[in-house]
Amino acid sequence: MKVKLHQLPKVELHLHLEGAIPLPALWRLIEKYDAVSEVGSLTQLEQRFQYRDFPHFIETWLWKNTFLREYEDFTFIASQVAEDLAAQNIVYVEAFYSPGDFARQGLEPQQLTAAIRKGLAVHADKVTVNLVADLIRDFGPEQGMTWLKQIDQVKDLGVIGIGIGGSEHQFPPEPYEAVYQKARELGFRTSAHAGEAAGAESIWGAIRNLQVDRIGHGVRAIDDPTLLDHLREKQIPIEACPISNVRTGVVANINQHPIRQFYDQGLLVSVNTDDPKMFNTSLVKEYTLLIEKLGFSLDDIVALIKNGIQSAWCDDQRKSELITALESMENGIKDN
Ligand SMILES: [Zn+2]
Repeated sequence: MKVKLHQLPKVELHLHLEGAIPLPALWRLIEKYDAVSEVGSLTQLEQRFQYRDFPHFIETWLWKNTFLREYEDFTFIASQVAEDLAAQNIVYVEAFYSPGDFARQGLEPQQLTAAIRKGLAVHADKVTVNLVADLIRDFGPEQGMTWLKQIDQVKDLGVIGIGIGGSEHQFPPEPYEAVYQKARELGFRTSAHAGEAAGAESIWGAIRNLQVDRIGHGVRAIDDPTLLDHLREKQIPIEACPISNVRTGVVANINQHPIRQFYDQGLLVSVNTDDPKMFNTSLVKEYTLLIEKLGFSLDDIVALIKNGIQSAWCDDQRKSELITALESMENGIKDN
């Protein structure tokens, strides 16, 4: 089954570039910045990526980002991430990146975007990566608006959307209403992390105030039947990240994850890895777990990938190409 899942052409809609750095590449940056004695070994680096709870995960995320200091580091990681995605037959990606986290190191969002695009371009023949700028809610909407306008200057580098990640448990979505309105006027698509570290009300806020195109995570929708009805009726896409939610303690274990109910109730849900190298996950691992623990079939997995394609922000022609490639591989797999 794993071979079949590997062969399927896959899409990722909720992937953070800085959480997808292959660990050997991150280790090279740790060496570059003379931090080997602080970290210890590659094995000890891996062990740091285990979390007591969601705030601890955010703390670790920020620690890891201290090893990204120069524009060339972003070119390097972008190329490494793209190579890693292509090797997994992931063919289309909408990847978050968080320019604001690096402002304190004196890096400008525009140049940082250019550096990332340069790295992604190396593998552009194998994997398409569109970028989504995370305006990081911890910094507040005023700062978010400034970053939005800077990002708008480099939209041509394949930045198609914006989102807000960060500490959802401390920063609700509503104050970002004007930022999201401006983003729409500028032609960006929108997503917001919601219902991950906060409750269903955070998802309502993202829908009503931010008018998001997609919801990141959306786990806590399961607590609110009216919200579930709304998500189904409007077919608002949910970017589910099951293993991430287990690793950060958002759900106690995979059996408690609501993706099965979302899928059975006809919500437009896709499967994504969030920060795969920080959660020891991959799309194949996610699908395998859904098959083994939540009763999904191979057909269901293909349907989930199709949901991802339908939820993507590329044009209709690209979507139909992705569907065609998926269906022809699916048929090939079934014939064998
Ligand atoms: Zn995320």
